[in-house]
Amino acid sequence: MKIERKQSVVLVPYPFQGHLTPMLQLGSILHSQGFSVTIAHPEYNTPKYSNHPQFVFHSMDDGLKGIEISLPSLENIYDLNENCKAPLRNYLVKMMKEEGDQLACIVYDNAMIFVDDVATQLRLPSIVLHTSSAAYLHSMITIFQQPEKYFPFEDSQLLDPLPELHPLRFKDVPIPAFNNTVAEAVLDFFRAISDIGSSVATIWNTMQDMENSILLRLQEHYKVPFFPIGPFHKMAPMASSTSILQEDNSCIKWLDRQAPNSVLYVSLGSQMRIDDKELTETAWGLANSDQPFLWVILPGSVSGFQCAEALPDGFEKIVGERGRIVKWAPQKQVLAHPAVAGFFTHCGWNSTLESILEEVPLICRPFVADQPVTARYLSQIYKVGFELEVIERTVIEKTVRKLMLSEEGKDVKKRVVDMKQNIVAGMQIDGTSHKNLNDLVDFISALPS
Ligand code: UDP
Repeated sequence: MKIERKQSVVLVPYPFQGHLTPMLQLGSILHSQGFSVTIAHPEYNTPKYSNHPQFVFHSMDDGLKGIEISLPSLENIYDLNENCKAPLRNYLVKMMKEEGDQLACIVYDNAMIFVDDVATQLRLPSIVLHTSSAAYLHSMITIFQQPEKYFPFEDSQLLDPLPELHPLRFKDVPIPAFNNTVAEAVLDFFRAISDIGSSVATIWNTMQDMENSILLRLQEHYKVPFFPIGPFHKMAPMASSTSILQEDNSCIKWLDRQAPNSVLYVSLGSQMRIDDKELTETAWGLANSDQPFLWVILPGSVSGFQCAEALPDGFEKIVGERGRIVKWAPQKQVLAHPAVAGFFTHCGWNSTLESILEEVPLICRPFVADQPVTARYLSQIYKVGFELEVIERTVIEKTVRKLMLSEEGKDVKKRVVDMKQNIVAGMQIDGTSHKNLNDLVDFISALPS
């Protein structure tokens, strides 16, 4: 249902691929509901404006001067927050003068901590966007409320269950620990990104049917309305790419030449870095599995190397046409391709949802933050993937074969098909995501301006 009164919203993304994508998708969802949408974004990783002619874009000087950031440090994130404060404030003041009460609210990524302060000063309602799962935020909050229960831990405890956080173990702790200890500054940061300040609601790229009990627990904690309206990439009418990097579309032609349901797609997302030992073990694991594979090796993602020159000698010759390596793939198209049978992933939340919605089961190789949480839920609760516990060629080979060739692999495939169907049901007229979206539209329209 389109709203009668034309209203506008300002969206503030956190400028990394896995966060920018869902914010742009949310923009498309809100635009399709009749809102005019402005994206006020840091200069860093500026989205491709021409892909989104329906939005107004406003670039904010973030002071980062385009420095290359792979995994942002706390310092980078705090700088970004501090530097964007004045540009956002000035822009909103101008916009409020021009638009008056047409401006309904500001929606911000929870890592853009400063936005709530700016909105409060201007008496503008703000809404937080969570781009990952409810399970991730819940585990984070549970830990920092009583950090002494979790830190420090011993190496001998790594496989022990985390208190109150089934199915997580100490090795899955989603708050970065060095030498099994957490720094107070790290805890403070996680507290800050979990604090919604005076924001009036939260929006989630997740599904109520999938995470209902955790969402309810979180809602008790936050006491504001929750709008789980995922999966964004299927709820959004947008077909245009949200990719910051150039996609290599030639791999689709390669996929066209492969047998149906035969290819393993391998990608560790936009930010993860591995060492050359892991690259070598993965390469031989894939080669020895005898399965066709499409592997994304992002330039700079192997420490000390530019790109695929880190691959072991003889590897490319041995795998020949059976393997294809690209620097960046059109991932959603790849996962939707009938040749793709499995996804070897770091379990970023976007990759996870994209895979499930294309009925592609997963091999989970998580690194940090939400990834270990997601990997545990995928492998232990939803049972739609296998977790790789050891990065060693024989283990990789076995796990690939298990996913692609075994009876257990067939069961995992059946479950991912069921899971997709349940999520799709939530997107139908009487489904939860559909209903929650209608409620969100009404909520924003009724905000006092
Ligand atoms: N992606 C892509 N091409 C690639 C690898 C990844 O387009 O070769 C996209 C993918 O579709 C997803 C996003 O990059 O939407 C990665 O987000 P995710 O949350 O999975 O992981 P992150 O990069 O934030 O770690």
